[in-house]
Amino acid sequence: MADDLAASPVLALTTALIARRSLTPDDADCCALIAARLELLGFRSEWINEGGVTNLWITRGSGAPLTILAGHTDVVPTGPLDQWQSDPFSPEIRDGVLYGRGAADMKSGLAAMVCAVEGLLTSQPHIQGTLAFLITSDEEGLAQYGTRHVVKVLLARGIKPDYAIVGEASSNQQLGDRIMIGRRGSLNGVLKVLGKQGHVAYPHKVENPIHRLAPALAALVSEVWDHGNAHFPPTSFQVSNLHAGTGANNVVPGDCEVVFNFRYCTESTEASLRARVETILNAQGFRYELKWQLSGEPFLTQHGALIAAAQAAIADETGLSPELFTGGGTSDARFISPWGAETVEIGPVNDSIHKINEHVQVADLDRLSAIYLGILQRLHAA
Ligand SMILES: [Zn+2]
Repeated sequence: MADDLAASPVLALTTALIARRSLTPDDADCCALIAARLELLGFRSEWINEGGVTNLWITRGSGAPLTILAGHTDVVPTGPLDQWQSDPFSPEIRDGVLYGRGAADMKSGLAAMVCAVEGLLTSQPHIQGTLAFLITSDEEGLAQYGTRHVVKVLLARGIKPDYAIVGEASSNQQLGDRIMIGRRGSLNGVLKVLGKQGHVAYPHKVENPIHRLAPALAALVSEVWDHGNAHFPPTSFQVSNLHAGTGANNVVPGDCEVVFNFRYCTESTEASLRARVETILNAQGFRYELKWQLSGEPFLTQHGALIAAAQAAIADETGLSPELFTGGGTSDARFISPWGAETVEIGPVNDSIHKINEHVQVADLDRLSAIYLGILQRLHAA
């Protein structure tokens, strides 16, 4: 692999990051490695660590536009090691493909961003505005003390970004075929229907919470929450867990718990969904407890200079005109976009993220870096 590493700084940095075992929320000194590289270019580091999470905010330049390159160093657990064809923390290239945990999500994205900025500032030391990296080690876990926290701190200082590029794996079949310009919101609920436990043979002495739940669940499942819009599919309601019963076949349980999730579009809000669920439940006339947890608000970036620059840079490098996409799971863009930045996610192909034998095409690493460079040149030309 030594020859490959010498030939591609992006590959060298990606493999150096994969070799650091940064299981969420451990950064394993990935941020320190990146900070050391960027400080050589005149960036100034600030550590906004919180709750055991490493957060790097590092900037160079002044004034507008302020572009944030954002990402995370933490990775998800490997899963069964015996199913990996090589050690997930010993990066290995086989047939032009780089394998390792974080190869696609998202150490290659981080490395490609760092190398793009190195390329830009080496060729054009005087650029317009400010470049910043916001890198956290808490994206894959609770995401409480990572980007969410840093945004809160910087917002309180009056810092206002113009553009944000999140290096998450956004591509679908080939590099550059898709960029994320929005994400659905995610709202979790835990419903506990309260009944009265007793012997199944004495139905007049029990209140069966499963029977109470059944019509309410049917109503929730068949409800049309909205019809979506030009950018988003309709809001979806899904039950993920259903628990009731003592294990015995002659006992009516005392309660029944349902865990559900909304993936919602910009036609609905947290408040509107909560109110409608409660209306449906109240109509059933049973006793219940309901807990809500908002995982992320939906966002949609309006067309502006960043999307235009991204489309042009991707067309230059790949010849593709990327699909502007809003599906998939959540990412830290949910915290950055409400801060007021035009926000997109651009990164490698995402088919292996979080899986056994996670990988990225080696040839895509330099091309991804060239895409980031093309975007920054367009946004920061002096
Ligand atoms: Zn990720």
